[in-house]
Amino acid sequence: MKLDDRLTENLRNFFRAVVLEKTNDVIYKDICERLRVAGMYYDMNISNADRYRNHRTGELVFDANEVDKKIILYDSGKKSGVEKVFNFYYDGYEYVHAFIEFEEGVAERDIDMEFCEFMADVVYIVASRHNMQKMLEHAELSDALTGIPNIQCVQGKYYRMLQNAAPQEFVLLRMNLKNFKYVNEVGGAQAGDEAIIQYAHKLVNMVDEDECAGRLGGDNFVIYIHKDNLKKFLRKVSSVKLSKLKSAPRNRFDIGAWVGVSELGENEDKTFLERLNEANIACGLGKGRLNQDVVYYGEELERMIMQGRSVIAAFPAAVKNHEFMPFFQAKVDMRTGELVGFEALCRWFHDGRYVFPDQFIPVLDNEGLITELDMAIFNETCIAIKRWKEMGLNPPRISTNFSKKNLFIPNIEDKILRVIEDNGVSADDVEIEITESMKDIEYERLIRFVSNLKERGLYISIDDFGTGYSSLSLLHNIEADVIKIDKSFTDVLTTDPKSVILVESIVTIAKKMNMSIIAEGVETKEQGKILVDLGCNLAQGYYYSKPIDYHSTTELLRNCDFEPVV
Ligand code: C2E
Ligand code: CA
Ligand code: CA
Repeated sequence: MKLDDRLTENLRNFFRAVVLEKTNDVIYKDICERLRVAGMYYDMNISNADRYRNHRTGELVFDANEVDKKIILYDSGKKSGVEKVFNFYYDGYEYVHAFIEFEEGVAERDIDMEFCEFMADVVYIVASRHNMQKMLEHAELSDALTGIPNIQCVQGKYYRMLQNAAPQEFVLLRMNLKNFKYVNEVGGAQAGDEAIIQYAHKLVNMVDEDECAGRLGGDNFVIYIHKDNLKKFLRKVSSVKLSKLKSAPRNRFDIGAWVGVSELGENEDKTFLERLNEANIACGLGKGRLNQDVVYYGEELERMIMQGRSVIAAFPAAVKNHEFMPFFQAKVDMRTGELVGFEALCRWFHDGRYVFPDQFIPVLDNEGLITELDMAIFNETCIAIKRWKEMGLNPPRISTNFSKKNLFIPNIEDKILRVIEDNGVSADDVEIEITESMKDIEYERLIRFVSNLKERGLYISIDDFGTGYSSLSLLHNIEADVIKIDKSFTDVLTTDPKSVILVESIVTIAKKMNMSIIAEGVETKEQGKILVDLGCNLAQGYYYSKPIDYHSTTELLRNCDFEPVV
């Protein structure tokens, strides 16, 4: 059977009108009016069809008032109250239905059911198409885990926003969550996912309508916001409370963030990706070398990056030429004034002057070059010990610093022992300083590292004690010989009673565990007295001596006359 041309043409127009939602189309209007249709809706609910299930019978029921998203295809404004729902499609995941409302005065018997069903089919096809499109858009532009925008989406919105605004009015941020691994460690990966989802939604709620926040993956986010809103935003993200995590019921987490900021100068323009790259670099430096929550990309940062690059470039030759050398800082028993040890601290003699560790240690640590430096200083220290012994000077034990990165160098313990052997000194002439760790994996490795070296007769001290996360549990699990109380506690001993209480408890516990305690950064007699009162007798600090070079140390060994503080 062949449809007549006019009907074919009309149907085609009808179809097109529905697809394009062109409800003003003459044919479309005409058909609707002839059938006395007031409006046609379709619903595009994607995933919560269960809401429409009758809980007793399990049957799917439909309530027109509960349609989540209805698009009105035609609305004459005159509704009869007669409503027909057609072709309810449900495949367990999505459902789509069409329904038709009739004009005033239409009764059930007046309805041309056959044609209305046909219209409903057309509406269904259009709805499915929309549905699919929405799903694709959603999948393409949102992050799979959290459902918030992904980078493509943020980028798209950024450029759309720029059609009505100047890029200079906005800052672009790259965020990395602080200590997020801790959440995973405490609650497992599931809690981690749950926390990220909760965090992501909180983040999205922090930005205004013409701003946007998205997830880059992992615990990384990208945001653009009004320059004027930056301060407020930074305050909010400095601590975000996560709670009621199902996978970690008793846990609440306060999550901070490292933030890198890209801002533009007056006439500057950069692409979204260029800005993201800047924010990325700033964020990375904040988290690494700078240890600073918020870092702005700018000239100073570029200088730092250049400086870092020149350190890295100069490093191999500097090691070869023995430009890195230890300075030695005395450790003193404050009750007697006796010299009880030294700490070897690295100096770089470069271009005719001494460069201090803060100028190169963080860079080398970040670049994975620190082991070479630590080994070089350790080696130089052993050489110095050997020489002093040969001079008959009887040097006390000397500690050297080992970055935590060393824990992941294969057989690092053997390498350390070989240096001691090769230099003809003994294991108890030296001491290894290592800082406490936060990450589980490091923590376990640290415990093994310490016990491996102790088995071979070395002394170990825990540096900067009290600044990490695991301080107290560390005391119970690790067999270190010495606890070095961080300078930040010493600094406030005379002003902050809390610091006194903390030092006192550390002393009590350390003594019970048979460890000795030394306070770092002692600068005044007053601090020394308080420490002795608290049971901490050993000190290292400017009050007694700054780090001094090999020759001055030789002099000090020849005649040492430190005074007791009491
Ligand atoms: P650290 O291990 O905590 O070393 C103590 C730092 O505090 C030294 O700074 C020392 O000069 C300084 N200091 C000591 N007493 C006082 C005091 O009374 N007042 C003040 N204001 N400062 C005091 P330095 O030598 O600049 O070293 C800084 C950091 O660099 C060290 O902190 C250590 O973390 C790192 N470092 C130094 N040498 C090495 C090394 O060979 N390897 C590694 N991995 N790190 C090193
Ligand atoms: Ca140290
Ligand atoms: Ca220290």
